[in-house]
Amino acid sequence: MSPRQGITDPGAASVAARGWLAANKWLLARRLAQLFFVGIFVTGPLFGVWIAKGNLASSLTLGVLPLTDPLMLLQSLAAGHVMTGTAILGAALVMVAYALVGGRVYCSWVCPVNAVTDLAHWLRGRLGIQKGLALNHNTRFWLLGGVLVASAATGTIAWEVINPVTMLHRGLVTGGILTLGSATLVTAAVFLFDLGIASRGWCTHLCPVGAFYALVGSRSLLRVSAVNRIACNDCMDCFTVCPERHVIAPALRGAAKGVGPLILSRDCTNCGRCIDVCSKTVFRFDTRFHSDPAGTKSARSETKAA
Ligand code: SF4
Ligand code: SF4
Repeated sequence: MSPRQGITDPGAASVAARGWLAANKWLLARRLAQLFFVGIFVTGPLFGVWIAKGNLASSLTLGVLPLTDPLMLLQSLAAGHVMTGTAILGAALVMVAYALVGGRVYCSWVCPVNAVTDLAHWLRGRLGIQKGLALNHNTRFWLLGGVLVASAATGTIAWEVINPVTMLHRGLVTGGILTLGSATLVTAAVFLFDLGIASRGWCTHLCPVGAFYALVGSRSLLRVSAVNRIACNDCMDCFTVCPERHVIAPALRGAAKGVGPLILSRDCTNCGRCIDVCSKTVFRFDTRFHSDPAGTKSARSETKAA
């Protein structure tokens, strides 16, 4: 495979080596999960089967499980609003869940905008768009601080006024013309921004929701490990598909420096796409406690088994 093919068609070698399903299983699982998290909210309005009432900002599942977006709760508190015990409990439950599985799991497995930004990135590759605005991926953390300051200064839940995530989710769930219309406009703006202005511009550089969940999951148990890094052939497919490509190199190439194979960056979304596209099965999901610092013991045994 030529380097150019790797850029335009990352994962082709994995499909050839392992078959289409194995080379796309985490991507398929994520799309199903994203549909699921919209689906459980729409069965009520559409069919009268109320699995979850509300939206991603605040919901009640099966009539008993309250879930609250903790960033919305923080903005409310900053704005001086009094929050109910149920809302605080809902936010605590969400925080605990993401602290365990990785905060950015929200971005790659739940957020409906993810499919839109993935599509923009895929299309950029297909159209051969290489240039774009170079943004710092820490910009989102500054924006997160700005959102809280704005909430405190204005006494409003500032981010929710323009948040494309809840707008899109609310639009999909309620189906209201006005909500769906504004959600479509904002989502289209995000898509065009990612496509024409900045590669992975929104999720990787600007979204304060992603920044917040990165902080929540910075010590999470669930991690991706480059456990079989000794088999890497430098095809770069994982770097091409990774929405946070800066997280890969320390784990993949750190053996000589004694760095373990676990991807420990808070920015990793646990999307599993690197696992999918690697024809050498370098990556797998693991826990943060299961690290072979040299990264060779597991690699040797797996190579032997194969
Ligand atoms: S880990 Fe190595 S072989 Fe696997 S996709 Fe990345 S660069 Fe290619
Ligand atoms: S390192 Fe792998 S799991 Fe983490 S964001 Fe990148 S592609 Fe997704």
